[in-house]
Amino acid sequence: MPSVTRRQFLKLSAAGLGASSLAVLGFSPGEVLAEVREFKLARTTETRSTCPYCSVSCGLIMYSLGDKAKNSPAEIIHIEGDPDHPVNRGTLCPKGAGLLDFVHSPNRLKYPEYRAPGSDKFVRISWDEAFDRIARLMKDDRDKNFETKNAAGVNVNRWLSTGMLAASASSNESGYLTHKVARSLGLLAFDNQARV
Ligand code: SF4
Repeated sequence: MPSVTRRQFLKLSAAGLGASSLAVLGFSPGEVLAEVREFKLARTTETRSTCPYCSVSCGLIMYSLGDKAKNSPAEIIHIEGDPDHPVNRGTLCPKGAGLLDFVHSPNRLKYPEYRAPGSDKFVRISWDEAFDRIARLMKDDRDKNFETKNAAGVNVNRWLSTGMLAASASSNESGYLTHKVARSLGLLAFDNQARV
């Protein structure tokens, strides 16, 4: 029989007494000891995304709560780096690590707004109104300013009076299509906030 010190003997006795008392009350010590605090992300939905801040384009996992019922809109409660993403392998810089505040910011723009000439305030408009207005203005400006040849008579087919600022947080495919549309129109001034 292994020898124990007096201190070890008292500890073992106390643990045994506690466990047997719980068993008498109907608790299984095995279950009690195995119970752990529920992981806070256990019931969330995981959605993959890309950090919108810079050209590194780190992969993200966004965790949202809510069963998508009409009266229970999903809410993003946690964002972290995607460990399977080849760019960042789960890491995020301080800007990326603060994305949850960016998502829930009261200043975040969620719909199109329009400020009329001379007005000092923006008013909300529908997406249809916004797209119609953008298309109308682009068509009018391109019809008026498109250049087919430069001063030396060389074919240039360019449209210099309008520029496009796109977003960097899109997939390769949507980025490719956006690029094709802009270049097909003859736009040369074309960029996004990440300079990619
Ligand atoms: S987490 Fe940082 S480094 Fe990565 S894309 Fe976002 S801003 Fe850039």
